[in-house]
Amino acid sequence: MSHNFFSLIRSSVTDDDKIFIRTTEGRSYTYRQAWDLSARYAALLSAKGLVIGDRVAVQVEKSPEAIILYLACLRAGAVYLPLNTAYTLAELEYFIGDAKPHVVVCSPERFSDIEPMASSLGVFSTLTLGAANQGTLVDESTFLPTEYETVVVEPTDLAAILYTSGTTGRSKGAMLTHANLSSNARTLVEYWRFTDSDVLLHALPIFHTHGLFVASNVTLLASATMVFLPKFDIGLIRRELPQATVMMGVPTFYTRLLKEDWLNHGSTDHMRLFISGSAPLLAETHRAWTERTGHHILERYGMTETNMITSNPYDGERIPGSAGMPLPGVSVRISDPDTGAQLPANTPGMIEVKGPNVFKGYWRMPEKTQSEFRTDGYFITGDIGYIDASGYVFISGRSKDLVITGGYNVYPKEIETEIDSIEGVEESAVVGLPHADFGEAVTAIVVLQEGASLTEAEVIARLDPLLAKYKLPKRVLFEAALPRNTMGKVLKAEIRKQHDGLYK
Ligand code: AMP
Repeated sequence: MSHNFFSLIRSSVTDDDKIFIRTTEGRSYTYRQAWDLSARYAALLSAKGLVIGDRVAVQVEKSPEAIILYLACLRAGAVYLPLNTAYTLAELEYFIGDAKPHVVVCSPERFSDIEPMASSLGVFSTLTLGAANQGTLVDESTFLPTEYETVVVEPTDLAAILYTSGTTGRSKGAMLTHANLSSNARTLVEYWRFTDSDVLLHALPIFHTHGLFVASNVTLLASATMVFLPKFDIGLIRRELPQATVMMGVPTFYTRLLKEDWLNHGSTDHMRLFISGSAPLLAETHRAWTERTGHHILERYGMTETNMITSNPYDGERIPGSAGMPLPGVSVRISDPDTGAQLPANTPGMIEVKGPNVFKGYWRMPEKTQSEFRTDGYFITGDIGYIDASGYVFISGRSKDLVITGGYNVYPKEIETEIDSIEGVEESAVVGLPHADFGEAVTAIVVLQEGASLTEAEVIARLDPLLAKYKLPKRVLFEAALPRNTMGKVLKAEIRKQHDGLYK
């Protein structure tokens, strides 16, 4: 028996003539067409000499073909490695150097920049794929056969590597196995009652666990349909909502939609489910949504490393401000962050998780992997929270100072390192401050060297070519010193408190 996640997908789909995916421009693929095209892509990868376990790094615009390429990688036993479309060339160089992919797939527009760099790092072939179904991946696979024998893998073989930024040093590649993806997708289909009648409104990016795995894998296992929006766009959401039954979003989607007059009971009555995750959904947003539409948003919690961990119930009470209960088969406990001792109900501590959903480790970082797991196999999430007496999990904050802006994770250390390297800068601290639209806004506090002079615009202009747009500070504030404790640690909580109202 094959443990390839694609084999599970293939056997779960009952009607190959159903629409699997369509764009807002009307391009669509039935399941059969998706199988055929994934066979062609897989055959092309094999023809390029790719063998089981080889990585395929993909930085492309959102398109149905990009998802079909993911399926092709599963079929070929390759490790799919999606990369944020906002990453700069310098950032890509790090990922490609670290992951050493056999094949890179990029947008046609970026080929001339990426190909020489990839080739110098030992990449065998760089292919292109554009959002309008153009590029060398398309050209070279057109005449290949639509039959491809899916590669047999072990449950612990890698299906994907997703990079998550690190608080110290550079990004870490989370290694996800075929078994990780299978177990979580199966659980979510059942827990959220997905069926082949569902039409999922998909406005998320597809290089992140939420839009890639949660949305697509659940759709596939349920034989449902996805409607692909290029990005979150209010006009398109309004146009496509009547055809949908489920929407998955980050909290920012919900706060933005609440500003729309047309959002009401009438325009959402036909919807079965609204799901939120990837960042905290404010209880007030949850309540405002219920008041306006009659729907209780179902909030869930997960991470790149663990897939989904908890979810509010489908039938039971969906509690505003809670991430819900551990999913079936997933164990969650709260520990003392310093000693690891387990804590009783209602006591905040480190959230730890164990289950078939939890990743295999960080790519080429055995020591880092070991330090993030307890000896009994629990993964230390880095999130602080508590479990109440009824079993609901509440997330109180992040131990690692991660900033989540518009659903994207930004690790302050990376931004601070770039700011600190600007001439005239003494030191800096980057924090997330409450922002009505983004949830948190990346904000930099900069201390200048004596006699140096720099403006806010100059700092941002220096960072612009180095960092993805979403990581750029929304504001740069200049101060005489950073607050520190006696151990010399910068007191970020104090900075956040001091500037709490900056964007209000
Ligand atoms: P990522 O790996 O990008 O999916 O980010 C994972 C992090 O997002 C988690 O460790 C949490 O800090 C945060 N997160 C995800 N879902 C929620 C949620 N429902 N409430 C609060 N934080 C969340």
